[in-house]
Amino acid sequence: MVKVAIIGCGIIGATIAYELSLVPELNVTVLEQKAPAQGATSAALGVLMGIISHKVKGSAWRLRQNSIQRYETLIPELEKSLGRQIPFNRQGILLLCLEGENLASWEELAEVRRSQGFSLEIWELDKVNANCPQLNLERVIAGVYSPQDRQLDPTALTLALVDAAAKNGVNFQFGVDVLGIEPLSNGWQIKTQNGNLETDWLVLASGLGSSLLTKSLLHQIDVRPVLGQALHLRLDNPLGNPDFQPAITANDVHIVPVGGGDYWVGATVEFPADGYQVEPDASKLELVRQEAIAFCPALANATIIKSWLGLRPRPEGRPAPVIGNLPGYNNILLATGHYRNGILLAPSTAQAIRSAIAGY
Ligand SMILES: Cc1cc2nc3c(=O)[nH]c(=O)nc-3n(C[C@H](O)[C@H](O)[C@H](O)COP(=O)(O)OP(=O)(O)OC[C@H]3O[C@@H](n4cnc5c(N)ncnc54)[C@H](O)[C@@H]3O)c2cc1C
Repeated sequence: MVKVAIIGCGIIGATIAYELSLVPELNVTVLEQKAPAQGATSAALGVLMGIISHKVKGSAWRLRQNSIQRYETLIPELEKSLGRQIPFNRQGILLLCLEGENLASWEELAEVRRSQGFSLEIWELDKVNANCPQLNLERVIAGVYSPQDRQLDPTALTLALVDAAAKNGVNFQFGVDVLGIEPLSNGWQIKTQNGNLETDWLVLASGLGSSLLTKSLLHQIDVRPVLGQALHLRLDNPLGNPDFQPAITANDVHIVPVGGGDYWVGATVEFPADGYQVEPDASKLELVRQEAIAFCPALANATIIKSWLGLRPRPEGRPAPVIGNLPGYNNILLATGHYRNGILLAPSTAQAIRSAIAGY
């Protein structure tokens, strides 16, 4: 059996572990310093902006397309394996296009998506209002509705992936901090506080931890934090039409229905002044809440159930994400730096890693 060790069990490590668990000749171990889904993944809103993204070609589009398609099979596959439901909002994403934005570019994108076999609908204000009467459309010139985009609960999904992968034989070790990596003649020795582990392949799905883990190697990956804050709001009833509850996004603020009258609202995008350290700014979170209220006035009456923050792993000086060989090594694979789209890109990242290791 070929041994594969994955460091990190956020959405990326968990999805890779599951995808590799489907390859019979692999023996897979996941090492995670905390519990699963405790890093950036715990903070994410799970909005999968694939078809509605402006990426139309190259690997940026291919990764999105593969993920969108794989999610449609992955969720039922996991539900069948585990006998439990995974929250997956199939009602699409509605983006509000604001005054000053270029509606023609959305129309062009809709045309491209049609040619790629996907659908993107441009809605006039009357249609937006008829479908989502809860919205204040004063600053809005049109709606862009993407019926094939999705939203999911990132923590619930990560835990489901761990359970399904474990059922398929993956060995998960939580509370294990990887302290260093050393080359062997034909693989790697992973040093942890619990002892050492030998492996043929090493996959770094360690988000912000990737910089430290590659420090002693030929090529250090520079991944830095971008802080995001979000809110859980509660109303007595769902907003608008209870049978049509898409994720709504406007001016980079998401209003995400999560059942009943509950909504997640976020997120701030806060860069560290020195590149490395960043403290949450309460006024930025309040601006996000006020913007959500501007589009959806009923949210002014919502109770704040909780707020939270997370650190998005952003690769410095290069586009996100970083997937592929660590330069200088053909058996260390990077699956990191997913910045704002790790939940969206997890399935295609896992497919890329599987194909690098298993050849398909
Ligand atoms: C507020 C907010 C909202 C977001 N919303 C969305 C969204 O709507 N859609 C979307 O697609 N993305 C969203 N994101 C981005 C998304 O959360 C990230 O891109 C994604 O979670 C990255 O996943 P990951 O598994 O790479 O990282 P993480 O979840 O951070 O996991 C990395 C893991 O590696 C472990 N680790 C690191 N070093 C070591 C070591 N030495 N030894 C052992 N373990 C180690 C860590 O403990 C951690 O658990 C959002 C992020 C934030 C903060």
